[in-house]
Amino acid sequence: DVNALVAHQDDEGNIDLVHEVVDDSFLPEGDVEISVEYSGVNYKDALAVTPKGGVARSYPLIPGIDLAGTVRASSSPDFAVGDAVVAHGYDIGTARHGGYADTARLSADTVVKLSGLTTAEAAAIGTAGFTAALSVDALVAHGVTPSDGPILVTGASGGVGSVSVDLLAAAGYEVIASTGKADATDLLRTLGASDVIGRVPEEGEKVRALGKSRWAGAIDCVGGTTLAYVLSTVEYGGIVAASGLAGGADLPTTVHPFILRGATLAGIDSVLLPIAPRRALWERLGGDLKPRHLDAVTTDVAVTALPKSIHSILKGSVTGRTRVVVHGE
Ligand code: NAP
Repeated sequence: DVNALVAHQDDEGNIDLVHEVVDDSFLPEGDVEISVEYSGVNYKDALAVTPKGGVARSYPLIPGIDLAGTVRASSSPDFAVGDAVVAHGYDIGTARHGGYADTARLSADTVVKLSGLTTAEAAAIGTAGFTAALSVDALVAHGVTPSDGPILVTGASGGVGSVSVDLLAAAGYEVIASTGKADATDLLRTLGASDVIGRVPEEGEKVRALGKSRWAGAIDCVGGTTLAYVLSTVEYGGIVAASGLAGGADLPTTVHPFILRGATLAGIDSVLLPIAPRRALWERLGGDLKPRHLDAVTTDVAVTALPKSIHSILKGSVTGRTRVVVHGE
């Protein structure tokens, strides 16, 4: 039997989250069975349980796009019983049952064996932290170095944003953190931000085709007018790594940043990233790239408390990473 939080949709489209004991056959086939210890709450987890959220493909669904735990059974030569693992992406928690259950069964080629990280740390990083690492890598691959100038992080107090600030500061970059939360300033400074500014553009400020150039690069998970503003203010030859839509899926920009400043817009995707680079990046996250302030950005919530708290992230009011304690400890 499997203890799970299951999302059901009724005929009117309403979604209910129910704690259930489901039969083992509820889970799909898979060659690795994992005893789940932790999951997380990402922006996408809330969308998955929101009517017309646009990410879940069918119900009933066990949500939870992140999961970390220990291998309980494996018919794959790549995994042994007792291995500590993390898994995310590949439709986990959206079209395939995810981490809000004490058991997950997955295909071995979607699972990452942990090195240098506990399951608790891996879940604290989660999809958001992994996406932050992908974003930092995009800047580095573009050739941006700390001496080029400051890097802007938007949505800085959120999951992707806070880990981005931490990783960039550790790599020696001057980080400007943009946040809508005045009370996140101390945390962002602890993570290594040199300067903390409000949301961009400021309220009432119009986004011009080209504004004063201010950053050598940027990491944006907000999208919408924010991303348009960031593009219009990035320096000549700069890069913006875009991963999200917390502020909107539209992009009201012009070609000017691209054709007059040689700006690059780099798309970041953690979902379909192939398993080889995924495993390689997790290995670095357990090594030289290990976030320095995971404890400071992580809040634990019990899986039993999720039905009440899961939607709050959609309002942009959650700070840092939310780790879900599923089982164990
Ligand atoms: P999160 O913790 O809620 O972070 C988003 C942050 O954006 C908020 O904390 C807030 O930060 C800011 N924000 C929210 N609403 C806003 C608005 N209306 N206008 C301006 N800023 C706003 O969410 P997350 O889990 O980090 O995910 C962030 C985004 O990245 C989501 O859209 C998610 O779907 C996307 N994402 C994409 C991938 C990928 O593979 N491409 C992976 C992970 C996440 P401040 O209060 O500090 O401004």
